[in-house]
Amino acid sequence: MEENSNFIRSIIKEDLESGKRDTVVTRFPPEPNGYLHIGHAKSIVINFGIADEFNGQTNLRFDDTNPLKEDQEYVDSIKNDVAWLGYEWENLRYASDYFEEMYKRAVLLIKKGKAYVDDLSIEEIREYRGTLTEPGKDSPYRNRAVEENLDLFDRMRKGEFQNGEKVLRAKIDMSSGNINMRDPVIYRVSHATHHNTGDTWCIYPMYAFAHPIEDAIEGVTHSLCTTEFEEQRPLYNWVVEECEMPSKPQQIEFGRLNIENTVMSKRKLKQLVEEGYVDGWDDPRMPTISGLRRKGYTPEAIREFVQATGVSKGSGAVDEAMLEHFVREDLKLKAPRTMGVLDPLKVVITNYPEGQVEMLDAEINPENPEMGTRQIPFSREIYVEREDFMENPPKKYFRLFPGNEVRLKHAYFIKCEEVIKDENGEVVELRCTYDPETKSGTGFTGRKVKGTLHWVEATQALPAEFRLYEPLIRDEDLKAADESEDKTFIDFVNEDSLTIQQGFIEPNMKDAKPQDKFQFFRHGYFNVDPKHTTHEKLVFNRIVSLKSSFKL
Ligand code: ATP
Ligand code: MG
Repeated sequence: MEENSNFIRSIIKEDLESGKRDTVVTRFPPEPNGYLHIGHAKSIVINFGIADEFNGQTNLRFDDTNPLKEDQEYVDSIKNDVAWLGYEWENLRYASDYFEEMYKRAVLLIKKGKAYVDDLSIEEIREYRGTLTEPGKDSPYRNRAVEENLDLFDRMRKGEFQNGEKVLRAKIDMSSGNINMRDPVIYRVSHATHHNTGDTWCIYPMYAFAHPIEDAIEGVTHSLCTTEFEEQRPLYNWVVEECEMPSKPQQIEFGRLNIENTVMSKRKLKQLVEEGYVDGWDDPRMPTISGLRRKGYTPEAIREFVQATGVSKGSGAVDEAMLEHFVREDLKLKAPRTMGVLDPLKVVITNYPEGQVEMLDAEINPENPEMGTRQIPFSREIYVEREDFMENPPKKYFRLFPGNEVRLKHAYFIKCEEVIKDENGEVVELRCTYDPETKSGTGFTGRKVKGTLHWVEATQALPAEFRLYEPLIRDEDLKAADESEDKTFIDFVNEDSLTIQQGFIEPNMKDAKPQDKFQFFRHGYFNVDPKHTTHEKLVFNRIVSLKSSFKL
């Protein structure tokens, strides 16, 4: 992590200097109920980064206390994503590893008179809980004898009760100003098969009870989480204290990362996947780590971005352009330059010898000369971008139009002499002439032209598919969603968020592999899509265009 200041680093430094701690242990604790998103990357970078900085360690721990929503597929994807981001966990743990230990701690609470079995339903418990201005009411079961509680809790474990029939609650304070302290539920009955423990359990601990115990068992020193858990901190400390945990972790909260024009909650992302709005969790329009990877983002760019957003208590939305800035920065020196025509228009160069093909030299990356050069064929027939021709151009249009001359990148000047149309009046071909004197790299200074176009030689060009992306859901549309009652974010999915174009690329690209990244002249950075690319055709995802409005 960069050496800029952040309040978590300051706390940890002080703890080490004062002798309160002699080591730093953190954990990243995802619930395996979906794929990780860029918000999780923030938590990952903070937890792993800060432990690294102080020679500490970080565990990857799956918070798998809710069997109905969790799945092995998610566990696997999360491990893969954390490793891909460049982090190594010290230990891989599951909350479910500790179910027996948690059960014992709950029994300890009961014995101390600090927990009781309640027969109220979840709705009744909610009603009894009171509000911010009114204290809660005691459950009629609050003063059950310890022996009775022990017996009932044991029978809960044995499966004698239905879901929702009984819960175990911590006995704290029904009039606390903090509603979290009004006898929170700490165990519930759930007859569900767990992806790790199978049918061993039919009672499961609640997150607020399980999490501090997990942290304490693992010797976590600093339990870093997002600010929505701030109100739960007193309960966290209560559990650590009353369960007599041998180690005392400290919870510290930081602000969530939000990005404009990006929905970022697993629940919503899951809905987009399940209802088919995207082609899986790794669809390049998704803000998931796997989606960003497939779109072409690099771990370096994501880490740099997250670090640049800083660590604070606040959580304003960050401009998406900031993320794009960091991927451009990262790819600038790494990505080979190439040319691709996304929407081809045939050009015949009438004065170029028929049957002749010459090879032109071009730098692979002018910003990184060490990458060497590539060879590009040129002949009588080429493709240019359809939008680089206009029959009746406005002023200041410097590309092709009848009578105008332009430069072909790495090649010659060509001049548009004739426009060929089909029976519908659509332009199907341009006839041009070229000037052999103007060959690129020969130092020709005879005259200047204002437009420089990309192109590919027609007979050797490889077919390619280009996928261009726009935000899946825009903030401005979502704001409108809040105002109208019967609409949800799903109603505002942008139907034009994916544009697919069939075009051509340079033949020297034939060995490109999935996840290889290129900068296409004038079009931006692209990634070879691992899902749709075939032997016949490379498919490219646009990572980001070349222009940036973002200033760091
Ligand atoms: P979501 O609401 O998107 O489903 P979550 O908080 O339920 O996310 P968890 O799997 O519980 O997801 O999160 C694992 C860790 O990642 C938690 O410590 C959580 O605080 C953190 N985290 C989740 N989203 C963000 C975010 N947007 N910014 C920073 N940290 C996040
Ligand atoms: Mg969650």
